Amino acid sequence: MAKVKLTDTTLRDAHQSLIATRMRTRDMLPIAEKLDEVGFYSLEVWGGATFDSSIRYLNEDPWDRLRALKSAIKKTPLQMLLRGQNLVGYRHYPDDIVSKFVEHAAESGIDIFRIFDAVNDIRNMEVSIKTAIRVGTHVQGTVCYTISPVHTIPAYVMMAKELEEMGCDSLCIKDMAGLISPQAAYDLVSALKNEISIPIDLHSHCTSGMAPMSYLFAAEAGVDILDTAMSPFAWGTSQPPTESMVAALQGTAYDTGLDLILLTEIKKYFKELKEKYRGILDPISETIDTDVLKYQIPGGMLSNLVSQLKEQNALDRYEDVLAEMPKVREELGYPPLVTPTSQIVGTQAVMNVLVGERYKVVPKEVKDYAKGLYGKTPAPISDEILLKILGNEEPITCRPADLLEPELDKVTKEAEELGIVRKPEDILTYAIYPAIAPKFLKGEIKEEVLLQPRTQEPASSHMPTQFKVEVDGDLFDVKIVSAGGEMSVNRASEIPEDIDGAVTASMQGMVLKIKVKKGDIVAKDDVVLVLEAMKMENNVHATHEGTVKEILVQEGSTVSAGDALIVIG
Ligand code: MN
Repeated sequence: MAKVKLTDTTLRDAHQSLIATRMRTRDMLPIAEKLDEVGFYSLEVWGGATFDSSIRYLNEDPWDRLRALKSAIKKTPLQMLLRGQNLVGYRHYPDDIVSKFVEHAAESGIDIFRIFDAVNDIRNMEVSIKTAIRVGTHVQGTVCYTISPVHTIPAYVMMAKELEEMGCDSLCIKDMAGLISPQAAYDLVSALKNEISIPIDLHSHCTSGMAPMSYLFAAEAGVDILDTAMSPFAWGTSQPPTESMVAALQGTAYDTGLDLILLTEIKKYFKELKEKYRGILDPISETIDTDVLKYQIPGGMLSNLVSQLKEQNALDRYEDVLAEMPKVREELGYPPLVTPTSQIVGTQAVMNVLVGERYKVVPKEVKDYAKGLYGKTPAPISDEILLKILGNEEPITCRPADLLEPELDKVTKEAEELGIVRKPEDILTYAIYPAIAPKFLKGEIKEEVLLQPRTQEPASSHMPTQFKVEVDGDLFDVKIVSAGGEMSVNRASEIPEDIDGAVTASMQGMVLKIKVKKGDIVAKDDVVLVLEAMKMENNVHATHEGTVKEILVQEGSTVSAGDALIVIG
C-alpha cells in the first residue's frame, strides 16, 4: 500500500461550502508560503464559485488572484474545479470560449484541471479535457457520485475507463453531497483500482457525517488522494479536516507523511481568520445532517430551498417539497444533484407543489434539460413526462455544444467596444458573465461589507415585506414600504386579482420580459410574459385566445402570487 496524498481545499471548496465563497485574496496570501511547505499533492484554489463570487461581491479579479497565489506557491501544484462545458458559469459555452479559457487558466497558473459534468456526459467534458492535455497540464477526469438505480459500480467503471482512454492523468470520485458510505467507497475504489491504472482521488463532504470514515475505507481500498480542508474550515458541508486525516493515518500503511506541527501553525492562522467571517457562517452549514441520505439533497440545496419557500411565503410546504424532490429527480432521469441540476430539480419540485398541478409550470431551464441541452440524462425520461415538459418539441440527440455558434470574435468585439479590455482574460470574464463583468471591469463594483456576528446584524432584507391580513372578514394586503416603519395598507380588492380575462402570476417573482403589446391577438397557450422566480425563467401563457386589452405590469415589476398581469378580452 502506498502512502495517501492529500489535496487541500481550504482556498476553494471549503470556503465555498461554509462562507459562500467569500474568502479574500488578501486573507490567502499571508499563509500561502506555509501551505506550500506542507507537501500537499495539490492545493485547490480556483474554479467552482470562486470566479463568480470574486467579481460579484469582492471586487477582486479572479485572474489576479490566481497569479498572486502562483507567485507565492512555487512547489505545490495549483488545482481548479472546471464545470466542463460550463467552465465557471452556469450555461454551456461554445467550444472556442472553452478552449480559450482553459489556455488562459493554464497560463495563469493552473497545473491540475479537475473537470466534471453535472450529468456525467463525457461529451460535455471533451473539449476542456483535450485542451488541457494540449497545453500540457495534468487532467483529472471526474465522475459525479450519486445514488440511483442507474448509478451502479459497472456504470462508474465504464465512465472511468473512457476518461482514462481520453488521456486523463487521474480520476476523481466527486461526492458533492457527502452521500458515499464507507462500504460504498470501499467497493467503488476497489472496483476502479482493478480496472484503471491512473491514480484515484476521493472528494467528499461531511454533510452526513460519514466522510472521514469513508476516507479511511477508501484508503484501505487503495485510494491515492483524499480531499481535506484545514480544520477551522472543515466539517459540516465542507471536507474532512486535514490535520485529523494526517493524524489518523499516521503509523498506518497509508501514512501521509505530512508534518502535524507545521499544520498546527497553519491551523492557527485559519482559526483566527474564521472569526472575521463568523457573521456569514450559516450554522446550518456547520451541522451534520443525515437527512441528506433520506432525500439525497445536498446541504447547500436545503438552505436554498428554505429561502425559496420563504420568498414565496410558503414555508409551510417545506415537507411537501422534500417529498416531491426525489419524485422529480426520478422522473428527470436521476441526475446527480450538483450545479446546475440541483437547481433544476429543486425548482421544479417547488413549482409542482406550489402550483398544485405537477409540471403545469415548467421553467425554461427544466425544458432545456429535458430537451437534452445539458447532456444525456443518466436514465431516459418517460414519454409521458417528456410530453408534459416539452409538448410537441423534440429532444436533441447530438452533443449539446454542437448547436452553439462560436462566440469568441463576437464577445471580443463587444468587450472592446465597451472599453473594458485591459488584458486578454478580461474578454473571457465578459464572455462568461456578460451582465456583471462590465460593471466589475469598469470598477463599479464595491467590495461587499462583511456582516458582523449575528447579534449586530442589521434587519435582514430577506424579511417578508408583503402580507395578507384578515380583519373582521375583510382581506387586506399589507406592504412594508421602508425600514422607517411606514406601512401602506390596500384593500385586497384594489389589487387587481379577480379581473375577467386576466392572466395571473402563479408565484411571486419579477417580470423579466413582456412578449405582447396592447392590441396583439393571442392564441391560448401563447407565451405572453416571462416571470423570473426562484432564479429561473418561467413562461406565463395566455389562458384563452383573444386580444390583449391591458398590460398591468412593466418589465422589472415585482408581482405576488395571484396578481393580474395582462388582460385578454
Ligand atoms: Mn465539493
